[in-house]
Amino acid sequence: MRELSRFIADRMVDRLGRWLRLLGEDVAPAPTSTDDLCAAAAAGRVVLTRDTRLRARLETAGLPVLFVEDDRIDDQLRQIDRTCGLGGAVPFSRCSRCNTVLTFHDPAEVAGEVWPHVARTQPRIGHCPTCGRHYWQASHLGRMAAFLRRVLGRDLLGTA
Ligand SMILES: [Zn+2]
Repeated sequence: MRELSRFIADRMVDRLGRWLRLLGEDVAPAPTSTDDLCAAAAAGRVVLTRDTRLRARLETAGLPVLFVEDDRIDDQLRQIDRTCGLGGAVPFSRCSRCNTVLTFHDPAEVAGEVWPHVARTQPRIGHCPTCGRHYWQASHLGRMAAFLRRVLGRDLLGTA
C-alpha cells in the first residue's frame, strides 16, 4: 500500500521535512511566504503544518493540508507513518536541504569537490544538481537508523 503524497513543509515542521526527505519522500522545504505555500498546495502538494490559522486558511480554500499534531519529532514521524505509510521511497535519494533528486557518481568523477578521504573510502557519492551539496554514507547513519527503529519499530534505512 502506497498512500504517501507530495508534500511541502512549513517552517514550524522544518525538521520533520528534513527527516522525510532523508527517507526519500518528496517534501518541498518551506518557502519564504505563506502565499507561495498556498500556491504549492494549489499545485497539489499537501501542506504539513502546526499552524492552526494556516490550516484554517487552506481548508477554507479547499487546499490539501495535514495538520501535524505534536511538537516532538518522534511523534510527528509516527503520525505521518500512521496516516500516510512510510517506507515506500528510496532513502537518501533526495537532497535533505532542497528536495532535489540526487545524481550519483563514481568518487573519481567528483574527486576535486569532496575531501580526499571521502573520495577514497566511499563507493559512490550523491550530488544535488540544484544546491551543489554532496552526500555520502557517513558515520551517523547507524544513529539515524537506530532512532527510526526506536520511533517507528522497523528499519527503513536498510542498515539492519
Ligand atoms: Zn539541494
